[in-house]
Amino acid sequence: MIFQGATILSMGPGAEPLQGDLRVVDGRIAEIAPAILHAGSAEERIDARGCIIMPGLVQAHVHLCQTLFRNMADDMELLDWLRRRIWPFEAWHDAESMAVSARLGLWELIAGGTTAILDMGSVRHTDELFAAAEDSGIRYVGGKCLMDHDDGQVPAGLLEDAAAGLAESRRLIERWQGAADGRIGYALAPRFAVSCSDACLEGVAALARERGVGIHTHASENLGEIAEVKRRSGRDNVRHLDACGLLGPRSVLAHCIHLQDGEAELLRDRGAHVAHCPSSNMKLASGFARVPELLELGVNVALGADGAPCNNRLDAFREMQLAGLIHKPRYGPRALPARRVLEMATLGGARALGLDREIGSLEPGKSADLIVLAPTAPDQVVAGSPEAAVVFSLGREAVRDVMVAGRFLKRDFQLLTIAADRVVAGARKAWARLARAFPDLAEESRDA
Ligand SMILES: [Zn+2]
Repeated sequence: MIFQGATILSMGPGAEPLQGDLRVVDGRIAEIAPAILHAGSAEERIDARGCIIMPGLVQAHVHLCQTLFRNMADDMELLDWLRRRIWPFEAWHDAESMAVSARLGLWELIAGGTTAILDMGSVRHTDELFAAAEDSGIRYVGGKCLMDHDDGQVPAGLLEDAAAGLAESRRLIERWQGAADGRIGYALAPRFAVSCSDACLEGVAALARERGVGIHTHASENLGEIAEVKRRSGRDNVRHLDACGLLGPRSVLAHCIHLQDGEAELLRDRGAHVAHCPSSNMKLASGFARVPELLELGVNVALGADGAPCNNRLDAFREMQLAGLIHKPRYGPRALPARRVLEMATLGGARALGLDREIGSLEPGKSADLIVLAPTAPDQVVAGSPEAAVVFSLGREAVRDVMVAGRFLKRDFQLLTIAADRVVAGARKAWARLARAFPDLAEESRDA
């Protein structure tokens, strides 16, 4: 098939925006050129005049398991947010609510132009997340959350002995790594150093090496978190993760806001990736990651919306806009221009997921993971820089088509792989059960 007449932001090395056509053959990008000769009536033509075609957005840090809890944990800082709300909620999940939480999140992500995610599950019901991702057609790397350290504030339903958590991770790797023609991958997910013993972290490092899978964790999001790790280990947080063997070219650390002396260089030296989540970082009052400095050092930085209860939407466009805005007051107006932000949201994400040879840019031979943006309102008609348009003026409502590996997941603004009415019905049922389990929630929200 040929997409015709678009502005193409290929994000290939050094590539400028191009006016032209893009051909997809057998799920891969075959050709990009100012005008592609049509192969005959058997080849489908898709009118993309006035549209922007670009690589699908990659979010390198999300929590599908939390989507049901949107708007239920506002105005709190991280450790309170986790202990008073998110952990009790995650412990409450059964298989059915986990599946609906995942589908609700996938619906929002795909509709909004996200084609690949790195997801952190909860401790239990991880198969539900993988199954939902497989059905949805998204490109998915995920893994069950590991939490084996009891500081007296973790609900019993989430605590798990390190050996049991690693054994379950191993089972999940066997079941899901490489599933759906390679569209599904596994990443081991120790929650953060506060929740994990050294034995757990060291076990993760060993299993990741043995099975060739990635590692996905949170790091240095909050000063209280860093103080707690220091008290237990005597080390700064990122140094502690490194001492346990967790930093390497397949490691993704979400946030990295409060890096201590030398830790940014350590990330660079190990080839570890950072997932920048600006909306979450502001809403939890966590702070501003020093992203321009990390990029300058040569650390790969990707973007992510984190979980729905901390931002409160899984919107890659909003993360791009915020990433493009929030660093300018500190670093000046030239910090993170639109092109750089787009790279973080596409190739940067692909690198973090270990998939940059396959996705992240539109180049012949790569998988056809792409989105088509069609301005639908007069204020969205694109003039000037298309890169600035995507980052600063368009939003997710402009996402007309979403394709992963040559398959449409959304076309002409219609979602094709998720039955929205069934997801809404399932979510309503789960919310009713949640309200019965947490009857004080409404009252507590007012007091918080
Ligand atoms: Zn997170």
